[in-house]
Amino acid sequence: MATLVWLQTGSCSGDTMSMLCADSPSVEELTTGYGLEILWHPSLSHVPTQTFDHLLDAILATRQTLDILCIEGSIMTGPHGSGMYDTYRGRPKMRLIQQLVAQAKFVVAMGTCAAFGGVHAAPPNPTDCVGLQFDKLAPHGLLPLSWRSSGGLPVINVAGCPAHPNSMTKTLAMLLSGMQLELDSLNRPTMFFKAMVHQGCTRNEYHEYHIEETEFGGKGCMFYNLGCQGPITLSKCNTELWNNRSSKTRAGVPCFGCTSPDFPLDAGLFNTEKIGSIPLNLPLGVERSNYIAYKSLAHEAAPDRLIHKEMDV
Ligand code: SF4
Repeated sequence: MATLVWLQTGSCSGDTMSMLCADSPSVEELTTGYGLEILWHPSLSHVPTQTFDHLLDAILATRQTLDILCIEGSIMTGPHGSGMYDTYRGRPKMRLIQQLVAQAKFVVAMGTCAAFGGVHAAPPNPTDCVGLQFDKLAPHGLLPLSWRSSGGLPVINVAGCPAHPNSMTKTLAMLLSGMQLELDSLNRPTMFFKAMVHQGCTRNEYHEYHIEETEFGGKGCMFYNLGCQGPITLSKCNTELWNNRSSKTRAGVPCFGCTSPDFPLDAGLFNTEKIGSIPLNLPLGVERSNYIAYKSLAHEAAPDRLIHKEMDV
């Protein structure tokens, strides 16, 4: 058996809600097939909180081993670095986390808030929220960037707002199975963060031929006018569908880039910022100088079935 404690900090519980939808593997399979023992989860545990108090004491006194510590939510460090905006039994949770990470073999940030600060760290960030090892893109999280758990890894950032259900459970399954987790430069598991949301989007052909929507509800691409960040966001939303069924772009909503450290952008989510007629953020690998010429040519060459939007998304 391997033990897990799940703590919530500045959070909406979205990652917990998301993980309950996981099916490959499910939370139940983690406990029955992978030997996971959930010592504490604020939503799933049915024991009184006094039990959690005893558990914390036992972990901190090294009488109880802690294999995996999961943090859901951003870390409130205010006011004035005291952490008193978010407490447990009068103790700042940020201090509790600093003590617990020293005992855990692996630490997993479940969601963008725990990884990078997320929504709660958006300007003006009145509670001084940060992520566990990052503050957005900067290496100024609660823990130094050089920090490593006793298992030899930094905080494993399963980013997303919320994180993809199966990315969370697969990460846990890999840790429980003793498999090597390769991480990218932002400490996200590469196997879940190597494809862009754009890959697998059913609107791709519309994108290639620059058939763009100006209003919601249409079949065209949402990149040029409606703020879609699919071509600059790493996540498997369109290659492993949510609940095996859908994704934001399939439901007609632009990708908000929620797995990126700078999410949420300090800008409108539903419109594309431009410099002149060129989007501020271009698809990864696209040259600004070539963008308009390429898109104009592509639009001229668009087949009728796309111009008349006969292709379903
Ligand atoms: S809607 Fe977004 S993800 Fe889909 S093709 Fe357009 S830019 Fe790419």
